Amino acid sequence: MMGRPMRCPYCGSSDTQVKDSRPAEDSSSIRRRRVCPSCGGRFTTFERVQLRELVVIKKSGRRAPFDRDKLMRSLQIALRKRPVEQERVERMVNGVVRQLESSGEAEIDSARIGELVIEGLRSLDDVAYVRFASVYRDFREARDFHTAIDELASGASAPNAQDSEKADAASGDA
Ligand SMILES: [Zn+2]
Repeated sequence: MMGRPMRCPYCGSSDTQVKDSRPAEDSSSIRRRRVCPSCGGRFTTFERVQLRELVVIKKSGRRAPFDRDKLMRSLQIALRKRPVEQERVERMVNGVVRQLESSGEAEIDSARIGELVIEGLRSLDDVAYVRFASVYRDFREARDFHTAIDELASGASAPNAQDSEKADAASGDA
């Protein structure tokens, strides 16, 4: 809506001018005072701040607009019959979208989105996590499932790795 001409509600002229713009009280929209040079009419518009459109680069190299609904549908499949409240799923997806938007990149690899979702699912539901990861990471071998389950079992995998390193060092000293 932003740069597009706004039609005058009085005379229908599309040549109206913005006198000033400022964020509305809740800052979710922008209030613009406009004036029509043709008839002198004054009016105010509220424009919602448009979320940046994200473009997803698929594995094939093809580009498509980010589709939140599609992501939600694939999550519903992963979460089928799992005791997870819809609200928590929505919040997780909102978090993923926010991270993507704040990355400052207009185009994002589908793999990156997948990893963010997998990370989010990890704290939401174990079974859904493995289901989704199996599809997104394109698991070909049963071994990959075991890796995912191992990652899950170890919880935070990095500290555990450090612990085993410490253990190695300790045994080396002895
Ligand atoms: Zn007018």
